[in-house]
Amino acid sequence: LGRKINSALASLAHKPAIDAEALDAMLKDLCRALLEADVNVKLVGALRTNIKNLVNLDELASAPVASQRRLVQRAVFDELVRLVDPSGGAATDRWQPVKGKPNVIMFVGLQGSGKTTSCTKLAYYYAKKGFKTAMVCTDTFRAGAFDQLKQNATKAKIPYYGSYTETDPVQIAVDGVARFKKDKFELIIIDTSGCHVTEAELFGEMTSIADVVQPDNIIFVMDGTIGQSAEIQARNFKNAVNVGSIVMTKMDGHAKGGGAISAVAATGSPIIFIGTGEHMQDLERFDARGFISKMMGMGDIGGLVEKLQDLKLENKDFIKHMEQGVYTMRDFREQLTNMMSLGPMSKIMSMMPGMPADLLGAGGDEMGTKRMRKMLAVMDSMTDAELDSDGQVFKDQPTRVERLARGAGSPLVEVQMLLQMHAQFAGMVKKMGGKNGWMTQMKQMQ
Ligand code: GDP
Ligand code: MG
Repeated sequence: LGRKINSALASLAHKPAIDAEALDAMLKDLCRALLEADVNVKLVGALRTNIKNLVNLDELASAPVASQRRLVQRAVFDELVRLVDPSGGAATDRWQPVKGKPNVIMFVGLQGSGKTTSCTKLAYYYAKKGFKTAMVCTDTFRAGAFDQLKQNATKAKIPYYGSYTETDPVQIAVDGVARFKKDKFELIIIDTSGCHVTEAELFGEMTSIADVVQPDNIIFVMDGTIGQSAEIQARNFKNAVNVGSIVMTKMDGHAKGGGAISAVAATGSPIIFIGTGEHMQDLERFDARGFISKMMGMGDIGGLVEKLQDLKLENKDFIKHMEQGVYTMRDFREQLTNMMSLGPMSKIMSMMPGMPADLLGAGGDEMGTKRMRKMLAVMDSMTDAELDSDGQVFKDQPTRVERLARGAGSPLVEVQMLLQMHAQFAGMVKKMGGKNGWMTQMKQMQ
């Protein structure tokens, strides 16, 4: 989807000026891409109208073509953000657990949507942030449900509650919550069944649990790959219980996600997290601006910074530099080093602005890591002055590049590629930093 949106926008790059015709052609491509990704036709129509209204062609006519293009891009970006987040990316009314009190969270969603997995991911996420967290399994319908939760919880080192003998999910919920409240747990996550003899019974069970437990938030888990039917499904759940937030799963791989986008619009509940894999760390806080930005190949600096802040950075200047729009060789080295400890390369890469998606190449994560190590070896043979520079010194003195290649035992082209990559990032960071930069804007949004 991102590629298609970009190619729609890229069609404007060859135009000497952006007139009504060029804009219409771009909008047509954009809308087709969205429809192919299962976004609801009404929403696509509204998006088209909004963009047309946002872009005032008469006013544009006298502007240089580069700023015309920027304006259109901005309008497209903003409207796409509004599509996945009714509040327009303001992210103000997001649910957050509060420290020092029991936060009871209930997960609902159809069987197979990823509830149990997401419960564990959320528990793991907040346990890492210092919350005393526990899980309760109320799925007595599906055989093996308790075993699955037990296994997950044990792996994540999260205390859990469930029963092999009690068959009433409501009773289990009451008992589990009471026990963990007594032990001063701060986050109590209730996993529920997603399947029953009839849908009415499933919704009945859900409402009974919600009625007695009175959760602080009900999270609807939705499979991001299901396409158009997501909208009806989301509306049904919303009608049965008071859905407060959405977790969208399976956003790794080739999820179209368009149906999920439609569902968000249908329920008005914000997506708070997305699942990006089967492992417990594969959970990302959802931020509409970052999500769209990433989709459009602009990177997700917000997400990257959050990840980086979790680390103990050797180079304390890094985040400050990013904010200022400065990006030295040393920053680049720092980034590469940390990327390797942050998790699967492919995921971190997708957060980096301007990172070519195919950098990992055919070998995937393993080859990518190897390549990354080689790049680090090159940077190890740089002097301090070179590391603290913006890379220009290498352009001015080609002999230095040869020296690096010799020092690291790498072919010259690899060193050149590294320098080129640094220059590319530096360009992006420069655009994003500073008073009018993207980082500042994002901070103000939050
Ligand atoms: P539940 O029936 O709603 O509790 O769903 P489960 O948590 O048991 O998940 C169903 C399947 O989806 C399992 O095989 C999970 O590993 C898988 N799954 C859940 N979340 C994700 C995700 O974000 N990405 C991928 N690739 N698989 C997921
Ligand atoms: Mg389950």
